[in-house]
Amino acid sequence: MRDVLVKDLARLLGADRVISQVEDRLCYSYDGTYKTGIPRLVVKPGNTEQVAALVEFAYQREIPLVPRGAGTGLSGGSVPLADGVVVSLTALNRVVELDRVDMLAVVEAGVVTGSLHKAAEAVRLFYPPDPASSAVSTIGGNVAECAGGPRGLKYGVTRDYVLGLEVVLPDGRVINTGGRTIKNVTGYDLTRLITGSEGTLGIITRAVLRLLPLPEHKQTILADFLDLNAAATAITAILAEGIVPAALEIMDDVTIRCVEKHRSAGLPLDAAAILLMDLDGPRETVGQQLNRVGEICRRHGARNIRVAHSTGESAELWQARRAVSPALVQVKPTKISEDATVPRSQVPAMIRRLKEIAARHNLDIAIFGHAGDGNLHPNILVDRRNPAEMARAENAIAEIFEAALALGGTLSGEHGIGLLKRPYLKQEVGSAGMEYMTRLKQAFDPKGIMNPGKILGRCASDQN
Ligand SMILES: Cc1cc2nc3c(=O)[nH]c(=O)nc-3n(C[C@H](O)[C@H](O)[C@H](O)COP(=O)(O)OP(=O)(O)OC[C@H]3O[C@@H](n4cnc5c(N)ncnc54)[C@H](O)[C@@H]3O)c2cc1C
Repeated sequence: MRDVLVKDLARLLGADRVISQVEDRLCYSYDGTYKTGIPRLVVKPGNTEQVAALVEFAYQREIPLVPRGAGTGLSGGSVPLADGVVVSLTALNRVVELDRVDMLAVVEAGVVTGSLHKAAEAVRLFYPPDPASSAVSTIGGNVAECAGGPRGLKYGVTRDYVLGLEVVLPDGRVINTGGRTIKNVTGYDLTRLITGSEGTLGIITRAVLRLLPLPEHKQTILADFLDLNAAATAITAILAEGIVPAALEIMDDVTIRCVEKHRSAGLPLDAAAILLMDLDGPRETVGQQLNRVGEICRRHGARNIRVAHSTGESAELWQARRAVSPALVQVKPTKISEDATVPRSQVPAMIRRLKEIAARHNLDIAIFGHAGDGNLHPNILVDRRNPAEMARAENAIAEIFEAALALGGTLSGEHGIGLLKRPYLKQEVGSAGMEYMTRLKQAFDPKGIMNPGKILGRCASDQN
């Protein structure tokens, strides 16, 4: 059966765009979670027409498709369930246009997020969404997950920058949603619906993205605390003074020690928490805010305040933040990365609950994340080969979600539902919410071929 499909797809797309060897398919069997699934085949279309032809072919034969960017997702979204054909979008990698007058970029889905940052900055423009994976993640993956990142606090998330999309629908037809204007209220907002739909409603092939003027100046500041709760309270105090940092990240003691062990970045090993912040804007304002933030942190018990005096020093501090994920997997091989999010006033309460949950279940939980917007990343460090530890982790995850919902929060701020959070979705959206989401999925994808088993439902062959 596979051989016939390989021949058909090779005829449709070209033999070099079909990957069938098992060793090669293995490279597409994972994402940033511990879930895995070997795809039936992998295809790498080279343009929208090829994506459309492929999807029409799959629709007629009811072949499940799994769109894939860089595979850095943290909810299992691009992990193929049995029989799924992975559609890698990395060959659609052109920044088609950077328009300085309309301040927008037109990019193909496989463009790496960091490349867009660089291309925009080269003409003094700014694309704010910056998931910590931006060196490898793709714009298609960012739009499909509505990715956030450290700059979400001040600048919002991916959806706030998507003006329009080119999407291949599950029957192979191509639509363009939105457009090149800031304002657009023509009909239902399909752009927003597709953004964050995790590849379950169609394949994004192109995006029109809003850009901002590049801020004149940026300064990075790091404050360390001997008490985690004090650090969390300092965050609310900074925001209450009307200062909105461009980024405001927290790392707890477990995270700091892991990062330092992994790559010596000069983080204080005896601290209970650090806050890492970027302030940006006009040079004079940044200078004033820097002093105020320092004062507020000291008032809330900060021991040391370190200001980066060069872009190199600033990059070094942010490298420490970006090293968190690789550092954590040195401790235990399985890292379960949650991103339950609470209103930011509840960050101190959520941190307390996370520490209680870790102690109750005898688990190492590293807490870090985008604390300024309430989006903490408790990472449970376990070994998936240890069933007893995995069972304790499952219980802890359920309690983390309960705690977030009880504090007025949500299951996921930016990583999406995918496979991992699917069992908990109803808890947040309720029965009617589930029913309407299911109907929406059926309206778009009546044959259920587009990333089946993600967000909603189960497919019969779901063995992960
Ligand atoms: C170290 C690390 C740090 C991270 N930091 C952040 C962070 O700060 N903020 C954040 O939000 N996330 C973060 N993530 C998660 C992840 O990087 C994001 O979700 C990112 O948007 C995924 O992009 P990708 O190209 O890797 O997509 P993939 O992982 O390949 O796919 C993700 C989902 O999108 C779908 N998809 C991919 N491309 C398309 C397309 N063209 N059309 C339709 N559907 C598509 C897939 O089917 C899947 O459901 C991090 C991950 C890692 C490993």
